[in-house]
Amino acid sequence: MYDPKSLKAEEFISDEEIQATLEYADANKENVALINEIMEKAKAGKGLTHREASVLLACDIPQKVEEMFELAQQIKKDYYGNRIVLFAPLYLSNYCINGCVYCPYHKKNGHIARKKLTQEEIKKEVIALQDMGHKRLAIELGEDPVNNPIEYVLESIKTIYGINHRNGAIRRVNVNIAATTVENYRKLREAGIGTYILFQETYNKESYEKLHPTGPKHDYAYHTEAMDRAMEGGIDDVGLGVLFGLEMYRYEFAGILMHAEHLEAVHGVGPHTISVPRIKRADDIDPSAFDNGISDDIFAKICALIRISVPYTGMIISTRETKEVRERVLPLGVSQISGGSRTSVGGYDEPEPEEENSAQFDVSDTRTLDQVVNWLMKMDYIPSFCTACYREGRTGDRFMDLCKSMQILNCCHPNALMTLKEYLMDYASDDTRAVGEALIARELENIPNQRAKQTCAKHLEEIEKGQRDFRF
Ligand code: SF4
Ligand code: SF4
Repeated sequence: MYDPKSLKAEEFISDEEIQATLEYADANKENVALINEIMEKAKAGKGLTHREASVLLACDIPQKVEEMFELAQQIKKDYYGNRIVLFAPLYLSNYCINGCVYCPYHKKNGHIARKKLTQEEIKKEVIALQDMGHKRLAIELGEDPVNNPIEYVLESIKTIYGINHRNGAIRRVNVNIAATTVENYRKLREAGIGTYILFQETYNKESYEKLHPTGPKHDYAYHTEAMDRAMEGGIDDVGLGVLFGLEMYRYEFAGILMHAEHLEAVHGVGPHTISVPRIKRADDIDPSAFDNGISDDIFAKICALIRISVPYTGMIISTRETKEVRERVLPLGVSQISGGSRTSVGGYDEPEPEEENSAQFDVSDTRTLDQVVNWLMKMDYIPSFCTACYREGRTGDRFMDLCKSMQILNCCHPNALMTLKEYLMDYASDDTRAVGEALIARELENIPNQRAKQTCAKHLEEIEKGQRDFRF
């Protein structure tokens, strides 16, 4: 029944296979010889299958767990360096016809403020985001064919890309909308989106159907097969995610890796990113109503094992997590974080009045983007606003080739320094600028290729003189 090449959800995310995987993992969680063998494979940067990774997740031998964390840190260093890419979510509309029981936008929530931004309002929000320094957005909408048709999404993307305010520009718009048709995915691709993001929420079909009792999202197969349709429509950067806390985390972990294996088997390219949100308090949602919440320790272990299992896939955490949790998981493999986020519809241009709460969840990390940039640099990370791959057409397997050729230090690293320099010149506070200039001077020396280093140094000077938008 299990077939990673099948296009049927229940065959590539086979419940039987997940159950067998969990049994296999339990039976082998103290099998040190096997665990060592799996770790050796991971050390060679070959990634792991869902079965192998599940054995590591089940293993709680302290020394082995420590080795897993160390390996994740090493892989993060080798493949991603110390760069962290920054982005912001922009909620365009919270109208939704679905009944997801964990989300306050569910249709039956009669008291949450329903909002949909007009194109004029989008302009104001985007200008506010540009004035913070953002270059990368993820747009978010509920599912509602009347209020949020595809035409609205396309028009909004055009509006966003069209705004050039002072030195600001949004250079990559990632899109998080409900599962849709191949035709609509093609339209999104033509509109120039970056990554298409769709969280699975849970891979367990039975739980999925209970958690999505009404609305089009109830259809497990249609939702689970969405990434295949997106790829058929020509989108080759797709972002997976599960909402940890809804189902047993070990089930979700095996499921998301099987989904990645499926995309690789069918389309020759795995997911561009994996997001690891945990369920959070929100308008009429109490996270304690869900039995499967995970501790910070397990959360850190999941992040580490995702890094080990799919080394070429970016990992995203949002402001759902606190500063402390973010600090803990950043070295374990996270490559992208949101900063200065609002999870309400609008709210960047002018804060939303309290009586009009339209937020999807409570933000745990409420710092400004400047504070986040400053904090990252003081921990020796390079905050990056790079969008070069997308703009150079290096998506899908071409992006993977860049990662696999280990050219990251000659490409991503200078791009990070140049985009950080732009940020420092245009948006940073005095302290952030001083910390950043020192960091750039230090990090310039870490570009191995001499020509790349010289070109980067030249562009940094040109940015100082007012030019923008250099990239490798
Ligand atoms: S999770 Fe998405 S589809 Fe479900 S209610 Fe919320 S906005 Fe709607
Ligand atoms: S060069 Fe490409 S892979 Fe590297 S940070 Fe920029 S967009 Fe990402």
